[in-house]
Amino acid sequence: MKQISEEFTKEQDNMDVFRVNTNKNKVYRHLKFWHDHSDILNRTYFSVMVQCLYDKDLYLTNEEYAEKFPERKSVDVQGLVEKPKMYIFGQSKSKDIDQLSYSKTRADDLQSFETPTISNCKTEIHDILRIFTGDNPARQFEAGHKRGGNYTCLCGIMAKNHMSIDCCFRKQTPSIQERMTILKNGVVWKDFDMETNINPFNELKKEEIETELDTRRIDIDHRKMNKKDLQDLLSETLQGIQRPPALICPSFHSNSYKLVENYEISNCEPLHDITNVVQNLLTELPCHLEPTVVQKEYQNFFEVTIGDKNQIKGSDARLYAVKLAHFTQTKYEDGLVNADLVAICNSLVEIISIC
Ligand SMILES: [Zn+2]
Repeated sequence: MKQISEEFTKEQDNMDVFRVNTNKNKVYRHLKFWHDHSDILNRTYFSVMVQCLYDKDLYLTNEEYAEKFPERKSVDVQGLVEKPKMYIFGQSKSKDIDQLSYSKTRADDLQSFETPTISNCKTEIHDILRIFTGDNPARQFEAGHKRGGNYTCLCGIMAKNHMSIDCCFRKQTPSIQERMTILKNGVVWKDFDMETNINPFNELKKEEIETELDTRRIDIDHRKMNKKDLQDLLSETLQGIQRPPALICPSFHSNSYKLVENYEISNCEPLHDITNVVQNLLTELPCHLEPTVVQKEYQNFFEVTIGDKNQIKGSDARLYAVKLAHFTQTKYEDGLVNADLVAICNSLVEIISIC
């Protein structure tokens, strides 16, 4: 990680994208992690990428860059700054216990952030681990969240309650610190061990669940509640939390979480989360269109765009949504569809590009 930090600083120096501020001898640079698990030639791999986050206080804007270097080609500074680097690429099975085997190295590497890198103009650049994004299984792993059951979303709302917009608006996704507080409210967390017991809340006996709920000061009716009722009550309390976040696991019992105190695990990843919405729109849209000529044009467009694929991936959905927005814009300019349709398609593209 130290080497990556230095490479970032060197490359950004070479690209002249740093904002030179003689009043500051120390600046902060925020980093984003992303990881995924995938198959290549029948072997499974765990890969982690890291990138800097663009910040106007630290880097020039495109306009400033063009003004400062009028002889150079115009560039997208944010694009240059946010180009990711490969951090870990290693064989790993898809189970949590296998992926956790990389956590110690990852957590140890964070120590290197305590030593800043130095830019050409002698400014200290202090890296801060800021955010994690990835698809749902990756975010659940990073946060120490359950992958199945009724509480699969990091926000802690029961799956069926996601239909309630009111409920979703009110609920604040717990931070890493809040997750740790929820986890450590009882006694079972003490059994967590990275080598031997990564899921201490699994397969608890009835008496153990009772003790856990008692310690959490949750009222239970010992005469009426059976094991399933008690388990449901515990699940509701834990909101899907099952272990410490991946980067905290190695130092869990030391109570020192300083290097991840600014770290936030994104609650959603629009690219994947919105895939089904894009698919639904593609299927439904022609049926809502009149006259038949426009309907036919859309049907042709979908046939050409999607072909015979019956399952679309997140990256496919993004491409289709962008193509659909472009196609709809041209139809709107020809006066064949109304502005609402343009707004629907454009908003999908905007949502997908959030992160
Ligand atoms: Zn949610």
